[in-house]
Amino acid sequence: MPRPIVIYPDPRLLQKSKPVTQFGPELKLLAAEMTETMRDANGVGLAAIQIGEAIRMMVMDEHYDAEDKGESLALCNPVVLDEDGKETIEEGCLSIPDVREEVERSYKVRVKAQDLEGAEGVWEFEGLLARCILHEIDHMNGQLFIQKVPAVRRIFLKKQLDQLKKNFKQAARL
Ligand code: ZN
Repeated sequence: MPRPIVIYPDPRLLQKSKPVTQFGPELKLLAAEMTETMRDANGVGLAAIQIGEAIRMMVMDEHYDAEDKGESLALCNPVVLDEDGKETIEEGCLSIPDVREEVERSYKVRVKAQDLEGAEGVWEFEGLLARCILHEIDHMNGQLFIQKVPAVRRIFLKKQLDQLKKNFKQAARL
């Protein structure tokens, strides 16, 4: 079942996630729920904190393209080993609905991580998937992509962000 996505400015999005230490059936269940939540929302990636679980785990559609979403990849405790190149393209976040802004990120990344069994490996990504993994690692550190937007652009975002803050306050009163 898809789970509700934590929406900005929920303070959980600013918290640092803890390393994954338990690799068992519960983690696999959580990864499956995250994949379902991500696909239900048409996302390319999702960090565990986005469904309220403060652990360093993420899922991503590994062979993502517009027609074929391919296999989902779950990574635990990812650490960037190398980054190369720069690219500035528009980015969004399932936790910040309807906000899209250009963000500069590395074009290629090499990442050390653990799979759902706890086995360590090294993965390489480029383009959209490199951007996605860097975005999800930011989530694990309590950072949002809007913080990477230059101040002059952030002025244009203010209205949209204020609306989300208003919605959040209303929802919290229910
Ligand atoms: Zn996000």
